Amino acid sequence: MSTILIVEDEERIASFIAKGLRAAGFTPTITASGREAIQFGLMGDFDLIILDLGLPDIDGFDVLEELRGQGVATPIIMLTAKDDVEDKVNGLDIGADDYITKPFSMEELLLRIEAILRRTVKHDGDKEPQRVYQIGRYVFNTTTQTLSLGEQSRRLTTKECELLSLLCLFANQTLERGHALNVIWGITEPTGGHDSSFSQRSMDVYVTKLRRMLDADERVEIKNVHGKGYKLVVPVEA
Ligand code: CA
Repeated sequence: MSTILIVEDEERIASFIAKGLRAAGFTPTITASGREAIQFGLMGDFDLIILDLGLPDIDGFDVLEELRGQGVATPIIMLTAKDDVEDKVNGLDIGADDYITKPFSMEELLLRIEAILRRTVKHDGDKEPQRVYQIGRYVFNTTTQTLSLGEQSRRLTTKECELLSLLCLFANQTLERGHALNVIWGITEPTGGHDSSFSQRSMDVYVTKLRRMLDADERVEIKNVHGKGYKLVVPVEA
């Protein structure tokens, strides 16, 4: 069964999450300390980490940055304060897989967890064929969620992987914003409320990150298609 690390100093919230996880068949471990969370994360024994931003010793961003900096690819869901859009964008930018806004329902949290685990657990001994895209000199493997250039390889977060996969599916064609928002963020109305404007901003953050990751091959480009969306330009080998 999947093991989940809960990093949260508010006892009431931590035990609420732990109880819900246990009822859903997960094995939770709680820590209130950011430093301890880093130690746990480095050991790599968890399938997923739920990370609160406000911790008594070091904050959640530092934990996230440290873990990703050390190459820990365990999926991380951030717990953020209500309406703090900056927090969410920053967190996603430094490698969180998803975020959830307090207060939240257990049902909502479980949906996010299951969506992430479905994608990450799948690649041990599954029947799904590996999906590999050549992006100029880069090789993108959607199964292992890695982007490689020569000997160098980096693991993408779930959302980065989803967006790059979509761009690859639409290579040299326009990927419409609304379509990407719908497929990746589940937003059907791009002009909708708060969540949708957040998702659009966060999509821009992802595009910026992907551009940086792909910048060693100048033939590869993610273009803005004004008023429409994005286009991944890749060289077509004859
Ligand atoms: Ca807290």
